[in-house]
Amino acid sequence: MFDRISIRYKLIVLLGLSAWLALVISSLIAIYSTYLSESKSSLRVLHQLTDVISENMRAALAFSDADSANAMLASLHADPHILLAVVSDESGKLLAEYRSAGLPTSSEQAFKEALQASIRKDAGILGSPLGFVERIDNDSMLVLRPIFFENKPIGTLAIISDTELMWAKIREFVLVQIAASVLTLVLLLFLSLKLQALFTRPIMSLIATMQEVAQTKNYRAVLTSNRRDEFKSLYDVFNAMLADIHERDDRLSKLATTDALTGLANRHHAMEIMRTMLTRALRKGEPIGIIMLDLDFFKKVNDLYGHPVGDLVLQETARVLLDSAREYDLVARLGGEEFLVICDCGTLDACIAVAERIRLGLEGRSIEYQPGHSLNVTVSLGVYSSEKRPGEPIETMIAAADEALYRAKAAGRNCYIVA
Ligand code: GH3
Ligand code: MG
Ligand code: MG
Repeated sequence: MFDRISIRYKLIVLLGLSAWLALVISSLIAIYSTYLSESKSSLRVLHQLTDVISENMRAALAFSDADSANAMLASLHADPHILLAVVSDESGKLLAEYRSAGLPTSSEQAFKEALQASIRKDAGILGSPLGFVERIDNDSMLVLRPIFFENKPIGTLAIISDTELMWAKIREFVLVQIAASVLTLVLLLFLSLKLQALFTRPIMSLIATMQEVAQTKNYRAVLTSNRRDEFKSLYDVFNAMLADIHERDDRLSKLATTDALTGLANRHHAMEIMRTMLTRALRKGEPIGIIMLDLDFFKKVNDLYGHPVGDLVLQETARVLLDSAREYDLVARLGGEEFLVICDCGTLDACIAVAERIRLGLEGRSIEYQPGHSLNVTVSLGVYSSEKRPGEPIETMIAAADEALYRAKAAGRNCYIVA
């Protein structure tokens, strides 16, 4: 499922969410540490209160003066968070107490029982002037401490307060954290939307170039980039691959269209080009000419001088053909020692001129097959021009030129015959 989402969106989500997750984790740690420090500071405030009251309570306890003890505790009503305060003498008997008006009787009872239990259980701790008991839970916190007079324990003071203030502060902090992380998430997503382009832009450009190359088959395309990261290597590899394909393409098309021995166009390629030339000639209302030629007694050359010399003769013949034909004519080797010249704008006169140039050129060419040894060959030619009969199909034209060539052979060779 994840691999169906585009890299672009994956990056946005990945960059945005991972940064946000880090923020959420650090927020949770901050919230927990705020809880610890807030509960500590709330207990500290309660300790300060018990400090002050127990100091003033000594005389009242020493003289078992319940009235002044009660009066002292009554001052606690100024703090609405104090739920219960209890002063007991050293035998555990209640001397004075203060209870908040809002404290339910059931809770008061539970608090008092817990206090009694604590006084009994923690008697050891409370036996020292600096000993105290403190406790905090969700709804309330407690500080219980002994009161000493002339180094003797004379009673205990316990104050129980609610934890509303502490929770209010923590709630406020959590809200700020939530608001901050929502805001940060939006900012991070926006930022990662911008940042993802750093990665996706070069990939997109690579894909676009690949698509273009696949469509146009233009392997000359080159990807340029002034990056220095891994994308540069990717582009370099891609460019090298394209150059390779281009070079192979060139080689293959050369192999497919040219004759390896002479470098002239081969039969297949010649037929293709001839079709194009013919269409163009018809459109322009110009004639086209065909000269078919075949070396005379070539078998003898092979027999007398060997095949390699025969090959040399074929190469020399190609050179004479190229020299004799005009720039825009097509010269091809049809196979063996048969050649074809297609004359663009081939009026009969022009074709005859070319044919005669070829015949004379070859006849006069001394082919040096060994230092100091040379031979001469001649050629017979069939000449055809569409001047008189425009619009004939290619096959008819070739057959006519071929037939003329056959007649030239019959007429004694080293000559041309017009179809
Ligand atoms: P004609 O005057 O009637 O054309 O006689 P010819 O001997 O030229 O005709 P033929 O068709 O009998 O002989 C053609 C020879 O061309 C036969 C073959 O060995 C030779 N040949 C064909 N292709 C090649 C080639 O690529 N290299 C060489 N050296 N010889 C080739
Ligand atoms: Mg021949
Ligand atoms: Mg032949």
